[in-house]
Parts: sequence; structure tokens; C-alpha cells
Amino acid sequence: MHAPDLDRHPALPHRRVGGLTLPAISLGLWQNFGHATAFEDQRRLVLHAVDRGIFHLDLANNYGPPPGAAEESVGRLLAGDLRAHRDELVVTTKAGYRGWPGPYGEFGSRKSLRASLDASLGRLRTDHVDVYYSHRFDPSTPLEETLGALADAVRTGKARAAGISSYSAARTAQALAVAEQIGLRLAVHQPSYSLLNRWIERPGPDGRTLLEVCDQAGMAVVAFSPLGQGMLSRRYLDGVPGDSRVARGGPLRPEWLTPEALTHVRALDELARAHGRTLPRLALAWVLRDPRVTSVLVGARTLDQLDENLAALDDPPLTPEELAAVEAHAVDVGINLWGSRSSDL
Ligand code: NAP
Repeated sequence: MHAPDLDRHPALPHRRVGGLTLPAISLGLWQNFGHATAFEDQRRLVLHAVDRGIFHLDLANNYGPPPGAAEESVGRLLAGDLRAHRDELVVTTKAGYRGWPGPYGEFGSRKSLRASLDASLGRLRTDHVDVYYSHRFDPSTPLEETLGALADAVRTGKARAAGISSYSAARTAQALAVAEQIGLRLAVHQPSYSLLNRWIERPGPDGRTLLEVCDQAGMAVVAFSPLGQGMLSRRYLDGVPGDSRVARGGPLRPEWLTPEALTHVRALDELARAHGRTLPRLALAWVLRDPRVTSVLVGARTLDQLDENLAALDDPPLTPEELAAVEAHAVDVGINLWGSRSSDL
């Protein structure tokens, strides 16, 4: 059994919102934890993350590939190396994207969310998750039903808290109103956010941004894909490396690597280096500059990537001059994969 170095936990800054305490940087297991990656490599990465003080592991029913594989891997760890440490960990999962065939294998019906959570708990080999998320807004299921299923999960003890992911500012406000009616506390929102994807800063129909809606409701914000799936690094500046997410046919689309996007990436890289940072460290510091962001979810594939990302927490805060210089290149370049699937609905 592995013995995480618990004394290191305080070394990683924590942020606390509405009863949820999270490390400033958390680990996501969307990619890199499927059948194409040896379990031993996955194990090494997760245990290293935990040793470094990352006690929040983010999952979903569909992570792998294939769907369920990432939860199975974490289940093996929770039953093995991490068996004595379940209560120190924040393990989250979600349902809403395709987990199994047929109309109940995705979206937000009560039947789907209940079945998916039971299956996730089985794979994770635990009796509860710390947050259960509706992974996306479902336009054809009433919010009362989707949120009612989350409330059931909390009431039955299968989830410690409920969250939503990639809901727009307007849908989040609606969800909060419904949640209040049914006695559910929505503890956390998980949106995409990075230097190249700033949708959560844009005002919705009532003039409020998603960040403002969450802040006013006391919801934690856990930002995902803070490195733009790897675009916010030097990896794509001279072509497509063979071991990259693009080369592997992953969800980072090659058509997003436009000359315009790469011009911004190159400029951001130069700015980072001019201030003694690296681009991933700049990108993470930039997301965390906003105190309304509770944690950033990085998706490291290697120990070196993870250590580089954690080094962002040792850098000095971004200066006003740096922030102003970054602003010219912190622009949306059309990489919000989750827009048409949820946040634009
Ligand atoms: P990301 O951190 O933006 O991208 C991770 C990828 O960037 C890695 O696989 C690696 O790509 C590259 N990378 C990471 N650190 C690097 C470094 N220091 N230097 C160079 N390249 C580096 O995050 P993500 O994987 O897209 O998403 C993170 C997590 O967010 C997911 O695991 C999941 O938990 C969550 N998420 C949630 C949703 C949702 O709908 N709620 C959607 C997506 C993600 P290579 O593999 O190419 O080396």
C-alpha cells in the first residue's frame, strides 16, 4: 500500500468556497487514463499527484477511453494504494455525456443520472463521491428532473455535494432557482476557462457573467482545460508532436491550430519567458488570478508536466504590467468544444 506524504498537503494552497475546500490545482482524468495507457503509468501519476498535495481527483462516467476506464483505474487505487486515504480525497464524477448506448446513456434524465451514479460508484469501489455533477445542460429534460436526481444523490449519501458543468450564466441562474425550490444546494460549477477561451467572463442576458452568478450564489468554480488541452504550451509551436493529444486523435482538434491562434500562443510564450515563467505556468497563474476561481483542473499526461504545472504555485503573482501585456493575446480562438454541447444552449 502506498503511503502518501500527508505533511505536504498544506504546502499546496487551498481555496475554500461554500463548504468545499480544494487545492488550487487539481488533477483531471479525462484523457490519459484509458486503456491505451498502462495502469502502472496511471498509478504513478495519480500517486505522485496525491504525494504533491493534490487531493482532488476529477472524473466522469465517460472518461477513458473507453467510458468508465478512468473510474475503474481510480477504483483500483482506492481499493489498493489509497485504501486508507479515501476520506482525505475529494473524488468527483459526472453524468451527461454518452456513457452507454440508447437514449438513457447520456443527457440529464433521472433514470440516466441514477443509473450512471450507481455504475460510477461500482467502478470507483467507493460508497460515495464528493461531488456529483450534471455534466451538461439537457434542453429536453426539465431542470427540476435533472436537479432532482442530484438532490436524490445527496439525500441518499451517494454524493456529498452537487454540481453542474458547462451550464451558461443564464442556465446556471435558472438552475440555482430550481435548486432552491427543491432544497438542493448547488455547491460547484465546472466550466472551461483559459487564456484562449474566456466565455465565463462574457455577460449573459441579465448582464451577469457566469463568474458573477457563481460568486453571488456562493458556488465554487472549478475551471477545466486551463491549458487549452495543451495549446498553451510550446508543444504545437513547431508542428504536431507524435505523442500529443492532437496526434493521438484526441479532442484537441488539429483545425484549431490556426496561424492566428499560434501567433497568440507564441506571443504569450515570449511574455512568459520574459518574466522568468513558462507558458503553462503563466496560463495557470492567469486562471488563478481571479479569486472566484476555486481550483484549476489540469490534465497532465506525465510527471514532468504535472510538476511544471504545480510550479506555477511557486511563481510570484502576475504583476499589473504582465496582466496588461497578456491581455492583447488572451483572446477566444474558437476552442470551446463545450459551447454547442452545453454553454451556448
Ligand atoms: P489541460 O490541462 O488544458 O490539458 C492537458 C493536456 O495539456 C495534457 O494532456 C498535455 O497534452 C498538455 N499538458 C499538460 N501540462 C503540460 C505542460 N506542463 N507542458 C506541456 N503540455 C502540457 O486540461 P484537459 O486535459 O483538457 O482537462 C483537464 C481536466 O478538466 C480533465 O481531465 C477533466 O477532469 C476536466 N474536464 C472537464 C470537462 C467537462 O465537461 N466538465 C471537459 C474537459 C475536461 P499532451 O497529452 O498532448 O502532452
